[in-house]
Amino acid sequence: MALTGSLVVGPDRNGRVVRIVDGRVATVCPEDADRLACPDGEIAPGRVCAHTHLYSGLVPYGMPPAVPAPTRFPEILDRVWWRLDRAIDADILTAAADDYIARALMAGTTAIVDHHESPALIEGSLSILSAACHRLGIRALLCYGATERNGGRREAERGLAECASVPATDLVRPLIGLHAGFTVSDATVIAAGDMARGTGMPLHIHVAEDECDVADARRRGYGGPIERLADLGALVPGSVLAHGVHLDADQVRRAGAAGCWLVHNPRSNEGNKVGYAAALSEGTRVALGTDGWDPDMTQEEAALRRLGRLHGDTGIEGRLAAGARLVADRFGTPPDPLAPGALGDLIVCRDGEVRHVVVGGRPLVIDATLTVASRAEIETNARREANRLWLRMAAL
Ligand SMILES: [Zn+2]
Repeated sequence: MALTGSLVVGPDRNGRVVRIVDGRVATVCPEDADRLACPDGEIAPGRVCAHTHLYSGLVPYGMPPAVPAPTRFPEILDRVWWRLDRAIDADILTAAADDYIARALMAGTTAIVDHHESPALIEGSLSILSAACHRLGIRALLCYGATERNGGRREAERGLAECASVPATDLVRPLIGLHAGFTVSDATVIAAGDMARGTGMPLHIHVAEDECDVADARRRGYGGPIERLADLGALVPGSVLAHGVHLDADQVRRAGAAGCWLVHNPRSNEGNKVGYAAALSEGTRVALGTDGWDPDMTQEEAALRRLGRLHGDTGIEGRLAAGARLVADRFGTPPDPLAPGALGDLIVCRDGEVRHVVVGGRPLVIDATLTVASRAEIETNARREANRLWLRMAAL
């Protein structure tokens, strides 16, 4: 879908006006441009969730707890997320993506960096996600997290091929996904790095989320997960490394020097009891993600501030804003949001509440109401598909 047309937003209560032409911020606009008034609001850049999982979008609709309750991180993966992802089919994935994207837009999140896995539905899964992004109008970087944990090397090859199948559009850019170092062989890491360099598509991978990833890299003979990626040619500039909880300062600096992004997911890390990502304050390219939690970035930022204080971390500023630079990199636009030539993604807030949301010059939320689809219908469908998902999970 091409983003065409023109939109003038404002003036807001500070007198600010933003003009958007053909999806980009412009200095001048045609006379007959559409207008979005906001005299009592404030225009701000759209918020970016730099690491998440659309496939977990149905979790708020009553996912039954795992019994017995997992305590360690590998158990959480095994009993919760790796059971959920195997139960996903096309209707469930569509419902999950629609609901998560709708909630993201209502919260002023205009772009998401998604990491997808559905082992029973590899081929075509990213088309479903891309279609949902276009239907609701959100900007996204999409990948399939290739892994060998269910079907060995062949499974990983199918995952990497799925990443390469996503066409770049005005709203979507593909990345090359790996689940995490500890579920892939060296051969798969090498193949992902080759693909990333060959296609110009960086990687998106979970790195050092838990100590088990560090221990695995060392067992394989590497200094750690960053060293393994580097040694195998997969520390590609622009890549998105999620978590980095168990990286040290040198490893964080090495990732940054290689042009990679690290993404802090404070609520998820706290919930999974994997630790606090203290060394990320040594990084220059650190963004903020929700890792599948509610896509309201103000909540994630509040958790970051709370946990930062708790851990005496004074280096947390600018992480939410950094996400816009990460996304702009992939779309080849200026890093400064709302500058001429930048992506036409913005929000208008009033008294701290999100009122309007615009992506690529297209108003998606007006007066706190989703305009591009029925929120009620999306939620009804989500509840129906969620009940089916819980049954499918129980049968695995
Ligand atoms: Zn994740």
